[in-house]
Amino acid sequence: MTEMVRKITLSRAVRIMQNLFPEEYNFYPRSWILPDEFQLFVAQVRMVKDGDPSWKPTFIVKPDSGCQGDGIYLIKDPSDIRLAGTLQSRPAVVQEYICKPLLIDKLKFDIRLYVLLKSLEPLEIYIAKDGLSRFCTEPYQEPHPRNLHHIFMHLTNYSLNIHSGNFVHSDSTSTGSKRTFSSILCRLSSKGVDIKKVWSDIISLVIKTVIALTPELRVFYQSDIPAGRPGPTCFQILGFDILLMKNLKPILLEVNANPSMRIEHEQELSPGVFENVPSLVDEEVKVAVIRDTLRLMDPFKKKRENHFPDIYMDRKHRFPPVSDRMSSLKLQLSKLSIVRSQQLGKPLASKEEPPDSDLASASAGGASPEGHLPSICLKQVFPKYAKQFNYLRLVDRMANLFIRFLGIKGTMKLGPTGFRTFIRNCKLSSGSLSMAAVDILYIDITRRWNSMTVVHQDSGLRPGSSFGPRCTPSPVAWLFLRSHGWTTTRLAGLRGAAQPLSARKPRKPRKLLWTRRCWKHTPIY
Ligand code: ADP
Repeated sequence: MTEMVRKITLSRAVRIMQNLFPEEYNFYPRSWILPDEFQLFVAQVRMVKDGDPSWKPTFIVKPDSGCQGDGIYLIKDPSDIRLAGTLQSRPAVVQEYICKPLLIDKLKFDIRLYVLLKSLEPLEIYIAKDGLSRFCTEPYQEPHPRNLHHIFMHLTNYSLNIHSGNFVHSDSTSTGSKRTFSSILCRLSSKGVDIKKVWSDIISLVIKTVIALTPELRVFYQSDIPAGRPGPTCFQILGFDILLMKNLKPILLEVNANPSMRIEHEQELSPGVFENVPSLVDEEVKVAVIRDTLRLMDPFKKKRENHFPDIYMDRKHRFPPVSDRMSSLKLQLSKLSIVRSQQLGKPLASKEEPPDSDLASASAGGASPEGHLPSICLKQVFPKYAKQFNYLRLVDRMANLFIRFLGIKGTMKLGPTGFRTFIRNCKLSSGSLSMAAVDILYIDITRRWNSMTVVHQDSGLRPGSSFGPRCTPSPVAWLFLRSHGWTTTRLAGLRGAAQPLSARKPRKPRKLLWTRRCWKHTPIY
């Protein structure tokens, strides 16, 4: 999983979706992968600058494997990228820098939201209804050659800002350099901001990002499962880093597969003497995430219910329901927080409930089997809102085809034999499509795919990169798109990033209904 959400993988996955659905995926800054796309980056920036000499962009260079702001720097021109030699050993992503973030108290801040990926198949996503807002410690100014190196002004990482003399350890959830996101929403709401819209845009961003990541994840996990075994079951808590622009549009910065769950921080009691002290804000957000995750993922719950329904019912009468126990746990935690805040000598700031818009008001547990339990913090958003987002799951359908009809588990490659199996399983071979014709079709599709790859090699996309570097289900993907009326030119557009996003005409994607019938009756050529 960690591999899957590294900066390069995330950029590739989102770019595929940006090519397919430019408007829906405009929440991710335009990015280039280094070193592969360095020339493309230079060419595109030059092209836009030639067209509009007043354009003074800023870019942010982020090492692929870096975290906590490590190795990140800002540049004004592609020629400022540091040493090509270093890039070879340390791949990176260079990204448009968002110059106009929303400021609070004149400071830039970002949002860390926790997302539980409960299951890949069927897709189940939960979002924590509160997150963390991490603040810079130097008043923000738009990037200028003189301030590009001011990390405390431009980077919101806690791990960096903690070393600033201006860092303020929060003694309530709504003050200091780390606050709850709900306290920010509360403040925005008091200024008349439509926070339901903000929250619902964030939920859309999260669902769309997960939809971009799942095809590769599913093929990747499936390849590790021996034949005859059921599909992958897994869960993961993801940390989404989101920036709010001045106009309140959320922008995805990165997805963290291994978000920190620390609930304490180091404090210097006297010069040189440090002690770990509880962090009220971290505790407020993270304890609830872990508690709800354990509750949702409890592997024994269903077994208990299925195997001993009578005992379970009896226990239900004899013991307080889990909801009560959860309330009591919550009470205990809040008591703990009160004690802590009293120790700190400040009143406990009340926790604001994020707004529940139509989209944002994910029901407690939704339609899941856990629906009878109260949702304390994690709210189901998928499949709850599946109807609104299912049309985006195009690449996911290709992954489905690959997994379901290939018939060979433990592989990520589609050779000629696999393709024959695939055609047979899909019941596509008939009098008009002999196996000899299938072989020719395979050769033809592979040839076309490879030639497209050669044309767009500069873009850094390799064969099969739509499913990651290790797999090549390209003929399936190609066949699928061709069968749905995609022209070769359009397919070439899907593969390449040679043209700038702005140059592409936004198109309304056709909603696809996947049925065997449509395979049988749609001509491939
Ligand atoms: P890391 O994994 O090292 O924390 P991030 O991608 O989260 O890397 O970037 C670190 C910080 O840099 C973010 O928290 C944010 O403050 C800032 N940042 C990252 N990308 C952008 C961007 N495109 N525009 C503006 N600020 C950004």
